[in-house]
Amino acid sequence: MNTQMYILGQVVEGLAAPLEVINPASAEIIASCRSASAAQVDDAIAFAQARFEHWQHTPDAVIREHLLAISAELLVHKAEIASLISLEQGKPIALAELEVELSVIWINTVADFEIPIEEYQEANGKKILVYNRPVGVVASITPWNWPFMIATWHLFPALKAKNCVIHKPSEYTPLSSILLVEIINRHLPAGVCNLVLGAAEVGSMLSSHTGIAKLSFTGSIRTGKSILQHSAYDLKSVLLELGGNDLGIVLADVDVDEVAEKIFAAAFLNSGQTCACLKRLYVQKNIYQALLHKLSNIMHQQVLGSGLDPESTLGPLQNQAQFDKVKALIDGARERGATLIQSIQVLPTRGYFIAPTLVTDITEDDPLVTEEQFGPVLPILPFDDLDQVIAQNNQLDYGLGASVWSKDLDTAHEIAMRLQSGTVWINSHCDLSPRVAFGGWKHSGLGFSFGVEGLLHYTHKQAIHVSMV
Ligand code: ADP
Repeated sequence: MNTQMYILGQVVEGLAAPLEVINPASAEIIASCRSASAAQVDDAIAFAQARFEHWQHTPDAVIREHLLAISAELLVHKAEIASLISLEQGKPIALAELEVELSVIWINTVADFEIPIEEYQEANGKKILVYNRPVGVVASITPWNWPFMIATWHLFPALKAKNCVIHKPSEYTPLSSILLVEIINRHLPAGVCNLVLGAAEVGSMLSSHTGIAKLSFTGSIRTGKSILQHSAYDLKSVLLELGGNDLGIVLADVDVDEVAEKIFAAAFLNSGQTCACLKRLYVQKNIYQALLHKLSNIMHQQVLGSGLDPESTLGPLQNQAQFDKVKALIDGARERGATLIQSIQVLPTRGYFIAPTLVTDITEDDPLVTEEQFGPVLPILPFDDLDQVIAQNNQLDYGLGASVWSKDLDTAHEIAMRLQSGTVWINSHCDLSPRVAFGGWKHSGLGFSFGVEGLLHYTHKQAIHVSMV
């Protein structure tokens, strides 16, 4: 298992603090790495800047071929990558395999995008061409929940737009990123795709470094704000994909049996550790008990265990801090009078396991409802006043995703248009497309990813006005 960085066109050991990678299913150390020193970060950026001078002139067709060759090789190594993801992140191996497959779909879609050139003809005979030029060196900072897929979301649009990149994975889950960058480096010139290791201090070296032209970040709102503050110094452009507290509204006309499986999967995806998974469920009163009963049955069928055990349907929380946070929210809700419905099973004695939990009799202002809980828990609230549910949702600072569940698509659409949310799904949730803009409103993000427009976040506009003399 490689635990080193990729900088200066070489595989290099970090020179700063040691980093221990822990298997969340056993709480045991599985690998030791070392963080990058400030000098190593400086050197990596300087080298990438130098390589950019050449890389930015690479023909589009050559870049496309490189990206497709990389994605083909990722598929060849799918089993190995998925095992690493499952080992370091905790998710079931089938989900880790899906993470690799989705990444490949995203890369192939990006590879085929064409970077547009706009052309305008003015009345006075002047012609204007608007190009989308690469920005230089892009930094990518990623979280621990989908460590491989989110890295591909950052790196490939940046590379496709002819930038060089410096990637910093989460200190909790660096291993699958190391393998990703290793494979990328088999196809791209040295210094185009670089990887530095480290925690917050290395992240803030990147956000405050004047050699970084653009920073792409996925993670918590708190860290996103800190990155934005650091970036203000040199007016660095940032793309922030931050936390969500996604709402689901279920109308009484649904077929409960049909929607329950989908709702459960959307709420407990990756043990709830997904920015855009369903985190609060509002159910119209007359079907509340029926849906609760069905969700409870599905929950009792889940098998909690190590992601590497093919029997497991739900893995652990990824780290101790996250475990403590989710546990405190659940315990707090119970102390405040909520009822917990938990699957009855013996929890593994080691690792960061929390039994999947449905929460009823909970008030709308409980922190488990108003805060992003990011765990295998779903508060379910009955409603009969839809306007109040929408108003309560829209007053929160979150605005990433939401869903409406109904057979009446027109009504669902009307409700969707009233929700302050970057994405609203009708009869599904957390179902993304590589061609369609995805980003949060309000505190859930700044800018958006995916589609050609998402790719253009990694470019500068350059207008060339051509007049005859
Ligand atoms: P969490 O608190 O759930 O770990 P974070 O948003 O803190 O989520 O972490 C996401 C990524 O941001 C990780 O790669 C982490 O190392 C990095 N990070 C944490 N703090 C900072 C910071 N102040 N500046 C830049 N990056 C940071």
